[in-house]
Amino acid sequence: MGYRIAVLRGDGIGPEVTAEAQKVLEAVAGRFQHGLHFEEAPVGGAALDTMGTPMADETLTLCQGSDAILLGAVGGPKWDDARTDLRPEQALFRLRKELNLFANIRPVMSYPMLVDKSPLRPEIVTGADIIFVRELTGGLYFGQPKKRWETPQGRRAVDSEEYSEHEIARVVRVACELARNRRRMVVSVDKFNALISSRLWRQVATEVAEEYPDVDLSHMLADTFSMQLIMNPTRFDVVVTTNMFGDIFTDEAAVLAGSMGLLPSASLSGLPTGRTLGLYEPIHGSAPDIAGEGIANPLAAILSAALLLRYSLDLEFEAQAIEVAVTSVLEDGYRTSDIYSEGTKRVTTQEMGDLIVAKIRAAKG
Ligand code: NAD
Repeated sequence: MGYRIAVLRGDGIGPEVTAEAQKVLEAVAGRFQHGLHFEEAPVGGAALDTMGTPMADETLTLCQGSDAILLGAVGGPKWDDARTDLRPEQALFRLRKELNLFANIRPVMSYPMLVDKSPLRPEIVTGADIIFVRELTGGLYFGQPKKRWETPQGRRAVDSEEYSEHEIARVVRVACELARNRRRMVVSVDKFNALISSRLWRQVATEVAEEYPDVDLSHMLADTFSMQLIMNPTRFDVVVTTNMFGDIFTDEAAVLAGSMGLLPSASLSGLPTGRTLGLYEPIHGSAPDIAGEGIANPLAAILSAALLLRYSLDLEFEAQAIEVAVTSVLEDGYRTSDIYSEGTKRVTTQEMGDLIVAKIRAAKG
């Protein structure tokens, strides 16, 4: 018995932070006696260089046959040539589409010992703990028509925000399920006053919430939400929204945590109950400006590994062991450069991974 994990390290700091996440998973496997089998494949720019495509068919087959996928990040200036259509990011789009990864889950929390790293005042961010659920395979980024054309009056272009009842219902269900293990509050964010697609979104969300009488669903307009997120983030528990709104608001929410290097994500193909195939990656990119220097923060990747245990392997206790270890190492004052402040102890990417591993090995219970 064991679990198969596909490891796609990618580009830039991807390999560095993924190595630490894998090391932590191996420590968890050792301590709790699980068989985790890791299989690696190149992705993104690294795959373009070696295989001529950002996501080879055999890599996709590997992912489809795995219990979960651990990914670093893709992209970088080396592959930014505008003359070619082959781009590292296509690997992510292909994975999401082929594996039907429709729900992107991004927990954002403010650690008490890091409140000074947020540009917002401590009294605003203290206690913030939100899970965003972003619809990932529909909406404005995929709707048709999507085109650009010439007219006698000049150039025109169109994108289409399109959602089916099915697409809305399944992602709202993911949010409601997550809320059940938290404060049981879901805010659905839309643009009901201006978009027909948002009216359907709100109607279907309300219908789905009737299946969850223990969960309190409310609705908020995207413009109001963007302000409330910065002014009063502690009022939110679970937030569910469309692909584009989710893209924007989850980056905005990153300021609550204080560094991109702290934020994990999960992209799921089903409900977050039982064992669901998912892709786990930090929300940050490949950070080419610091790649190879050993200073990247691996905590986002390590916390993504915790989500992998929780949602794809149904190992909640083991997931919490990682999260407790992360908090404990931060409480001990260890910091990578991005979250360093005077009086704390600066460590490298690898040292941070080692500290988490040591905590997991030493933990009781
Ligand atoms: P980025 O997230 O890579 O970096 C933004 C800033 O945050 C940089 O200053 C970087 O040094 C810092 N940073 C990011 N992660 C960090 C970490 N773990 N520890 C410490 N500092 C960290 O965003 P970018 O610079 O806009 O993009 C760089 C490349 O990454 C681009 O090619 C972009 O397309 C790609 N990208 C990939 C993904 C992905 O793979 N999912 C997501 C976003 C961007």
